[in-house]
Amino acid sequence: MFSAVTKFHDYGKQTIQAARYIGQGFAVTLDHLNRSPVTIQYPYEKLLPSERFRGRIHFEFDKCIACEVCVRVCPINLPVVDWKLIKSIRKKRLKSYSTDFGVCTFCGNCVEYCPTNCLSMTEEYEPSTHNRHELNHDQTALGRLPLSIHQDFTTQPVVTNYSVE
Ligand code: SF4
Ligand code: SF4
Repeated sequence: MFSAVTKFHDYGKQTIQAARYIGQGFAVTLDHLNRSPVTIQYPYEKLLPSERFRGRIHFEFDKCIACEVCVRVCPINLPVVDWKLIKSIRKKRLKSYSTDFGVCTFCGNCVEYCPTNCLSMTEEYEPSTHNRHELNHDQTALGRLPLSIHQDFTTQPVVTNYSVE
């Protein structure tokens, strides 16, 4: 008789504990009902990058003086600057410039230290491809102006507190 009372008592305690857990779960659910969704319907919706977002690098061939500062300040010496010396005017002339975004860490050092400001970081953040060699951009690919999300009519720009940083 005594053991039956003890069991009944334990059962009652467990029931109350379970009800408390369920209540806590509902409280979390109700709390999240008031919040904006974190996920978006990519690729039909896209997050707006933040103001100083470091995306794909844009390069202006005509402004480059082939000084190679960008190579020296790059933590992995990534940019490939090919130039020839014009002896008559004792100046370098740029032949080609490339950056491999499969290796780039998007640290922004090259942009920061370029003396002629011919490098800038765009808001493009979708460099994915089936072939990693396609991520090696030459001066033509680097010179392409970025496509703003606002100009992409296939998608809906989304402004949330969770913009791409
Ligand atoms: S630092 Fe600027 S100007 Fe100098 S080589 Fe690099 S991109 Fe050209
Ligand atoms: S962003 Fe950084 S890692 Fe990429 S090329 Fe420039 S300096 Fe190198």
